[in-house]
Amino acid sequence: MKVGIVGAGMVGSAAAYALTLSGSVTQVVLVDRNAALAQAQAEDIAHAAPFASTTQVRAGDYDALDGAGVVILAAGVSQKPGETRIELLDRNAAVFRDVVGQVLTHAPQAILLVASNPVDVMTDITTRISGLPAGRVIGSGTILDTARFRSLLAGHLGVAPRSLHASVLGEHGDSEVLAWSSARAGSLPLADFAAQMHAPLTEGARAHIDEGVRRAAYRIIEGKGATWYGIGAGLTRIVQAIAADQQTILTVSIRTPDVLGVGPVTLSLPRLVGRNGVSATVVPELDKGEADALRQGAEMLRDLAGAVTV
Ligand code: ADP
Repeated sequence: MKVGIVGAGMVGSAAAYALTLSGSVTQVVLVDRNAALAQAQAEDIAHAAPFASTTQVRAGDYDALDGAGVVILAAGVSQKPGETRIELLDRNAAVFRDVVGQVLTHAPQAILLVASNPVDVMTDITTRISGLPAGRVIGSGTILDTARFRSLLAGHLGVAPRSLHASVLGEHGDSEVLAWSSARAGSLPLADFAAQMHAPLTEGARAHIDEGVRRAAYRIIEGKGATWYGIGAGLTRIVQAIAADQQTILTVSIRTPDVLGVGPVTLSLPRLVGRNGVSATVVPELDKGEADALRQGAEMLRDLAGAVTV
């Protein structure tokens, strides 16, 4: 499968690099309004390919996206001093009006995979601009938060992350919800498994993991200004699920008609991802605290996205 990436900055190039090393797609095409940057990134990443895969990497204009199965949207402008969140969103919406129109002209069949932040609102905007069915416009959402949740839990329990089913729901951001009550290790409820492993999940242990998941991006931004490798790998995981029609359950963001009485709203829930994008959503059991938190986050996201005209 051919994958297009619009925006060859840190996130777009990290996704291109991870996709290339994974060898799961045949071609990667980088597009950026800064053509020299796209060209340089493509050349650099293409030089890594021979060590790992036969993926072809190149830069091009929008017409080079012709035939792409997935187009990752990683373009964006950053916040100006004094600019409000809504003003920034309005400017990014303008960028996306241009970008999404061009992408759909040249790759009308592509699934759009949104990476630009705030990802849930940008995914909502992209869905509205494109007019595509919701399942074909996917935001990377909490895929990374879920991975981090599983990895911290795995460390506590002394089990491989892949043996854990635990999800982060809602916003990719401050209001996200760690779904503790539905988490499973193997086929066991988490508390049973933790007891058998002699690693009880005390309130302190839970708070530590919660903080570790929720504050991860802040810590990384403090040290290096932005995050890109983790999301590059997360985007690659989503592309693999689409390219191989895996019907894998991933926590990704799409516009959803109703979430606990709120909607339409764009946020992450566990969803089946395959060739046609998202084909189904599964709603885990939540306790009252989790449900209230998810509903509140959903209301906030619905209002924020609703304040942006497309
Ligand atoms: P991030 O860390 O999110 O990747 P960057 O600023 O590194 O942020 O990258 C964003 C990229 O998006 C930049 O390379 C910029 O040139 C590109 N970009 C911004 N606006 C457009 C646009 N209208 N069309 C294509 N690319 C764009």
